[in-house]
Amino acid sequence: MSDLFDKIVSLSKRRGFIFQSSEIYGGLGATYDYGPLGVELKRNVMSSWWKAMVYRHDNIEGIDAAILMHPTTWKASGHVDAFNDPMIDDRVSKMRYRADQLIEGHIEKLRAKGKEDQANAVYERLVAALNAEDMPNALYRIIMDEEIHAPDSGAFDWTEVRQFNLMFSTSLGAVAGEENYIYLRPETAQGIFVNFHNVRETARQQIPFGIAQIGKAFRNEIVARQFVLRMREFEQMEMQYFVKPGTQMEAFAMWREKRLQWHIDNGVRPEKLRWHEHEKLAHYADAAVDIEYEFPIGWKEIEGIHSRTDYDLRRHQEYSGKKMEYFDPQTQERYIPYVVETSVGLDRTILVLLTDAYREEMVNGEERAVLKFHPKIAPIKVGIFPLVKKDGMPEVAHAIENDLREHFNVFYDEKGAVGRRYRRMDEAGTPYCITVDGQTLEDGTVTVRDRDSMEQVRIPKDNVLTYLVDQMRTWKPQA
Ligand code: ATP
Repeated sequence: MSDLFDKIVSLSKRRGFIFQSSEIYGGLGATYDYGPLGVELKRNVMSSWWKAMVYRHDNIEGIDAAILMHPTTWKASGHVDAFNDPMIDDRVSKMRYRADQLIEGHIEKLRAKGKEDQANAVYERLVAALNAEDMPNALYRIIMDEEIHAPDSGAFDWTEVRQFNLMFSTSLGAVAGEENYIYLRPETAQGIFVNFHNVRETARQQIPFGIAQIGKAFRNEIVARQFVLRMREFEQMEMQYFVKPGTQMEAFAMWREKRLQWHIDNGVRPEKLRWHEHEKLAHYADAAVDIEYEFPIGWKEIEGIHSRTDYDLRRHQEYSGKKMEYFDPQTQERYIPYVVETSVGLDRTILVLLTDAYREEMVNGEERAVLKFHPKIAPIKVGIFPLVKKDGMPEVAHAIENDLREHFNVFYDEKGAVGRRYRRMDEAGTPYCITVDGQTLEDGTVTVRDRDSMEQVRIPKDNVLTYLVDQMRTWKPQA
């Protein structure tokens, strides 16, 4: 992994954004806990998504469905039969890899060496293999023919490629046994599909309308070595938009633009975002695109926008025996709606925001690490410091703190040199710091220090709230 990526992982831990889960027991693979700063960041991202999706669209409704669902759900959705990843084991190191990702890595290496023709040929074979009837064997052939060695051990001693189902199962009630098997949901979407009529009827929505949800999803990922990019327990923010068949491409075009804009509105630099068209469309999909972010370890998917036709509702109709049709009161037509979904990983978004905001700068001969978060997603909005712990300064600072607490998450700090207190807030991504000093006691003004420019202005302490609200509203990202 790259240096920058390592720094972000280490800052996340040191400052309480993200910890390894069950760390005192040596950790549990690909599961993570959010610390005090991380949980604030996460709540702010959820709220930014909820506002953008639910509050800004009168035809989108929110729900919060259970993680455990009737097991037939996953037969209907196709996950029991087909939610598989092709895996391959290195016999030497006993490490397991995703066969398609091994080949992708090989293609990247070829390109890096300037072997464009060979890279293109392998890429074409990969696309064909992913669409092949016997996909595992087709992938295996490529690994053999290209003599792809194991990235970690360097060995060329592979098992066959096998399919591995990614769903976690558990049993319901006291009796274990196949008939009691249930699954931890591998995506939040199915909770939305099965509630299609409940939401439509109770919210009195007509097509087109959407249902949005934020919640946990679980996947027993084979390869999980990239921090919160690939977790076994993670969170998704998904919206299913139900449309009249034939109008799905319009909806698809609208949502792909709106979703890219959301990331930019969170302060992410547009040049770090790009589209990725799918090499392989799921058999039921008629369009699919990913939004990717350029992490220090390469471009990675953060969100998918998929046009899923009427596949899910039709399958639920088939398996449940309940009609999933919509009656259009205007045209008097009856049809199963088509669906365009937007599905973004909350944890991947957090990693985007941490990565995109992270800067190292030289200030007066000293290096500072700073997270230049958009104020709306910053975990702490304002740091409040008395210059010294005496002369009535703490009292004035506490009064400002109490006022601002009603509006934002703030942090009061009276320990150590002010310069050090600023640095700590820089690392936490706090956009503004207020200092109460000697002059405050004379004329009632305080200094407000801007995280990005490090400039300080003096304003009357009674104007602090309006000043901050205005600054946050007009904040612009820096290059
Ligand atoms: P990938 O190809 O990276 O495994 P995917 O195509 O399976 O992802 P989707 O099923 O489209 O992902 O899920 C939608 C979003 O959920 C992804 O864009 C990603 O942000 C998030 N996501 C999926 N799997 C994980 C995971 N294991 N850990 C964290 N986030 C995930």
